[in-house]
Parts: sequence; C-alpha cells; structure tokens
Amino acid sequence: MSIQTINPNTNKTLKSFEEMTEKTVEAKVAKAHQAFTDWKETSYQQRADLLHKVATLMRVKKSELAKTITLEMGKLLAQAEGEIDLSADIFDYYADHGEEFLADKVLNPEYGEAIIRNSPIGVLLGVMPWNFPYYQVARFAAPNIMVGNTILLKHASIVPQCAAAIEELFREAEAPEGLYANLFISGKHASALVSDKRIKGVSLTGSEEAGASIAMEAGKHLKKVVLELGGNDVFIILDDADMEKTVEWAVVGRMNNNGQCCVASKRFIAVEAIADEFIQKFKDKLSKMKVGDPMDPSTELGPLSSEEAAVHLADQVKRSVDEGATVLLGGKRADRPGAFMEPTIITDLKPGIAAYHEELFGPVASFYVVKDEQAAIDLANDSDFGLGASVFTQNIERGKKVADQIDTGMVFINHPTWTQADLPFGGTKRSGFGRELSALGIQEFVNKKLIRISALNDPF
Ligand code: NAP
Repeated sequence: MSIQTINPNTNKTLKSFEEMTEKTVEAKVAKAHQAFTDWKETSYQQRADLLHKVATLMRVKKSELAKTITLEMGKLLAQAEGEIDLSADIFDYYADHGEEFLADKVLNPEYGEAIIRNSPIGVLLGVMPWNFPYYQVARFAAPNIMVGNTILLKHASIVPQCAAAIEELFREAEAPEGLYANLFISGKHASALVSDKRIKGVSLTGSEEAGASIAMEAGKHLKKVVLELGGNDVFIILDDADMEKTVEWAVVGRMNNNGQCCVASKRFIAVEAIADEFIQKFKDKLSKMKVGDPMDPSTELGPLSSEEAAVHLADQVKRSVDEGATVLLGGKRADRPGAFMEPTIITDLKPGIAAYHEELFGPVASFYVVKDEQAAIDLANDSDFGLGASVFTQNIERGKKVADQIDTGMVFINHPTWTQADLPFGGTKRSGFGRELSALGIQEFVNKKLIRISALNDPF
C-alpha cells in the first residue's frame, strides 16, 4: 500500500510517507493507553480548555490547512475553508456543552437513590475517509476527548498531510502525549488492531466493505463499533416546490465537494407535473458549471479525489448505459488532465441497472420521474442505503408526512441533507449505525454506570 499525496488536479505525486512499523504502532497504542490513565482523571474544564485551544489553532491556520485539503483531495478551496470553520465549531461545541451532555442522570427508583454516571472507556480507534479530512476526525475525536477517552486515528491513505496536520494541532495545543495519535497504517492493519485488548471501541466512516471488515473484527472481539457508511440520498421534488430555489439547492446537493459527500443528493425524483420544468433548469445549470483547478476561486467543479475514483465512476456510468440507462448530460471523463468527470445526468434507471443500486460518488445525478408523492416515497425506500433524504415542497406539513415515511436516518425539508455540530448525523440499513454530533454523538463510547444507594434495611 502507499501513503501519498497525489494532487488530483494533475495526478502528480507530491509526497510519500513510510507506513509505520509494527513496533512504532505498538509504542503508539501503549502511549494512548498510558495517556488514558491520566486523562480520565482530568476535569471537564481541563478537557474543554484543550478542545477550545485546538479550535482556535484551526481558525488561525485556516488558510494553510484548507490548502492542504485542496491539494490532497481536490475540494474547492472556499469549501475547504468552510470545512475548517465547521471542524473548529465542532471542537468548540463539545467544549461548551460536553459537561452538560455527560452530567449525572438522577433516577427515581422505588427504594433508595440511583444515578447514571457517564465514564470514559479507554483508547478508541478511528478509521476515517478522505472526503472531509478534518470534519470527519473532528466529529469523532472532539466528543470522545471530552468524555475522557484517548484517540488513535487511521486516516485515508490519500490525505497523509491532513492526517499529520491534525496530530500537529493537538501537539501545538499542548495535549498530553498519547491523547491523540495519527497512525500511518493500511486498512488491513487497522482492522487487525481492533483485537488489541487496550483498544475499547472503534468508529469507522467509509465504504461498506471497510465497515464490514472493522465490524467483523469488533464483533469477534466484542467491542463497541460505530459505522457511518455510504448513502444514496433522494432529492424529492413535489408539485408545489418553489422551482427556482429547488433547482439551486439541487445543484448544491449534488455538486458540493465535487459530488463526494456521503449525504450528497444522488437520486433526483420529480413528480410528473413538474418533472420537465425541473430537469430543463437543472440540466441548464449543470451544463454551465466551470470545471477546473480547485485552487482557482472561479472554479465550480473540481476533480474527484483520485484517478482511481474517476475511473470507477466513469465505469459505473458506462455499465449503467450498457444496461439501458440514458445519458442526458455529460457521461464521460472531462477532456483535461487530472481526475475529472463531466457534470452528468443519467435517467431511465430501473432495478438491475448499476446506477439504480450503487452509490455514485461524484458529479453524476440520477433522474427519475414518478406519478405522484407515494411513488416518490416508494422509490426512495427501494434502496439498501438509509442515510439522508430531502423533500422539496412549500407545504411543510406535507413535507413532514413524507419525511415520516422515508426510511433513512435524516430527512431534510427544503434543503439537501447537511450537517452541523448540534444536529445528530447517522443512518439506518446499510448506511451504518450509531450517531455522531449533537448530544447523541457524545454518548457512543461511554460507560453508563449505574450507581445505586440503598438503606441497609431496604428490601432485596
Ligand atoms: P474507504 O475506502 O472505505 O476508506 C475509508 C477508510 O477506511 C480509509 O481510512 C481506508 O484506508 C480505510 N479502509 C479501507 N479498507 C479497510 C479495511 N478493510 N479495514 C479497515 N479500514 C479500511 O472509503 P472511501 O472511498 O475513502 O470513502 C467513501 C465512502 O465513505 C463512501 O461510500 C461514502 O458515502 C462514505 N462516507 C460516509 C460518511 C457517513 O458519515 N456516513 C461520511 C463520509 C463518507 P485506506 O485509505 O488506507 O484504504
């Protein structure tokens, strides 16, 4: 395996890193375990102070950190800066609210007294993807450091400079040694590490394959696991949607992060009455997108994260067309060097065609026309994934009724699925289990310890 920065705008290799040896990894696990014994005794105030320091450093170094994201995985620079702000907000959010979220819960048993006290469980392993190199780490590390756990982080191999920069942020914030450590290791090695007795839980964000591999090890060794996996979110346009705004959001929903969000709007489902108007306007906007260098502020669509990702996406489109799909726009690799794909819309999709079932991770929209609202809901639910969904209607009560019937972890009305520190994030079905962010995300890796106080003559 290789741990390398390859600029997807040019496909040139810029920097390579050595994979860590078994001995180095062993030393890091030992340090993380050692750090836990002290960190679990610190006060919430001490933990919050550290998280605030990390947030402040992120904001101070925003421009430099954002450039590394763009260089390594091709995110538009303005969006990369937005990611740094969002990540800093997450650190601040858990610093400000963690203590309140983890406060004792007083119970009212029939006899005596009882409380639930939240306590940390130990060293956690995080396995994270490249598509939001800072945000993905922030939403796992910040709440768990607040809990009192310590962190080992295996990041995606194509963002090593981001991975190292996050560890450096903790060092600059004067975090105790071992509190947060970056591991330059392969996915296989990360899976094998789950069996280590000192590691008490594991959180993976990524593909179903990687999730299954980690979950299998976690199951074998009886460890708690959180999985945030792929998605095939619908974007439903009902007959009473505000068309101008809806089309604007459709473009953002599909093309943000060059189309590589787990919660990107991937399946556009329009009811018959407004389908022609929607697709005409949507196609017009996508066809005018400026494709180019993600460092250039005028660029609207940058490259995919890697040449491999672009080859895979183009192949998914080709297979779908071979199986009966129709291309309405684009459909090919963009005619320029780098890992680019044209803005694409495909339609005439039905069960059995690749794009009907698979997640398309890039600037390719699937378009469906359905008879009515119920048909839109049925199509939305005909997916193995269950991450997010959005529905556009001017009637909010109608939107809520549709939301009730969609089998996903999140449904957004009049907005593509998105994220912020104070909203829970996660899916159902093959999109994984567990929640991150908000008050829920901090509860995943804690021991909810019952402390029961009885009078000596209370009944048995
Ligand atoms: P990926 O290939 O699964 O990689 C994710 C992480 O898992 C990387 O660190 C990767 O390391 C590691 N990994 C790969 N194989 C592994 C294995 N067998 N055991 C343990 N770890 C392994 O996913 P990706 O292609 O980078 O990311 C895209 C996928 O992530 C999409 O499906 C997307 O929807 C999903 N995603 C989900 C969420 C969510 O919150 N639900 C958020 C973002 C992305 P290497 O890089 O070294 O292979």
